[in-house]
Amino acid sequence: MKEDYYDILGVSKGATSSEIKKAYRKMALKYHPDKNPDNKEAEEKFKKAAEAYEVLSDADKKARYDQFGHQAFEGGGFGGGGGMNMDDIFSQFGDIFGGAFAGGGGFSGFGGGGRRVVKGSNLRIRVTLSLEDVANGVEKKIKVKRKLKADGTTYKTCTTCNGIGQVTKVTNTILGRMQTSAPCQTCGGSGQIIDKKPADADAHGLKVSEETVAVKIPAGVVDGMQLKVTGKGNEAPGNGISGDLLVVIAEEEHPNLKREGDNLHYDMYVSLPDAVLGTSKEIDTVTGKVRIKIEAGVQSGKILRLRGKGIPSINGYGKGDLLVHINVWTPKTLNKKQKEFFESMRTDEHFEPKPESSDKSFFEKVKDMFS
Ligand SMILES: [Zn+2]
Repeated sequence: MKEDYYDILGVSKGATSSEIKKAYRKMALKYHPDKNPDNKEAEEKFKKAAEAYEVLSDADKKARYDQFGHQAFEGGGFGGGGGMNMDDIFSQFGDIFGGAFAGGGGFSGFGGGGRRVVKGSNLRIRVTLSLEDVANGVEKKIKVKRKLKADGTTYKTCTTCNGIGQVTKVTNTILGRMQTSAPCQTCGGSGQIIDKKPADADAHGLKVSEETVAVKIPAGVVDGMQLKVTGKGNEAPGNGISGDLLVVIAEEEHPNLKREGDNLHYDMYVSLPDAVLGTSKEIDTVTGKVRIKIEAGVQSGKILRLRGKGIPSINGYGKGDLLVHINVWTPKTLNKKQKEFFESMRTDEHFEPKPESSDKSFFEKVKDMFS
């Protein structure tokens, strides 16, 4: 049940226009957003008061409201009696409060002077990508629930402002006649109102429908990145323009590859005999399988750099590398024969560690990795 406009302003049904104005000024100053930063409740009260005042300060609207209540303003124009946004409030009462306050829900308008272009709201959707998709780029077909103009909805020129989007008031002051203009409250400044609409459309003649949108995702995107598909958000009523579809990237974790910027890291385990004798091994990369050679005598901790096997830069400047970290696997248990073999090697001087300058220390390797 919608709150009564007289109750909102705290005045009686028989209140005079100056009493209504006075009550509104008091409320507007009390709940003004500058005085109540980040206070949703105050903002709501501020909007409600503005809406009540917008109706009760206008002789024609007040008469309609007194006779029919809130029903008098249902459907019809886009700005109408219901749901004023902050822009509307401030454009009408800017001379009282000064300053500007961005925000307010629903449709946003832009374009100075005359008619405002109404823009539909944006939609936001999350898309999960595998590392392969990130590396190669991908086209995703995304199901989106958009508000579109319903079949059978027609719009006509707003009769309050004759399609101009603004109403001009002439007032007599002690300084002479003053002309002020404000956005038309009937059509919200768009210059158009609903003519006909089907029963299942909303007050703006829009209806939710599911649509599949193809989104080209370039290689190199990063988790949390937002891509904009222009014009694939909600449509706007009348001759307004559609909002945008914002695609938020979520990156799936890869079982073997760890991403770090445009570089990838891969942990490779090599058996003791393979490390001693050398071998070749196949590994999965984001562009398919690659066979790499492990030299005989490879040391644990060695990093093999596969140039250009990482993620392409989102800016188009080359590709990252794939860094393969060698880990020599030491068996944890041995049978009798194996134990005898290693025991006999223990005294062999050949097995003594003799690091050469080419066997870089851990710190040098890390330094090298980021160079
Ligand atoms: Zn209008």
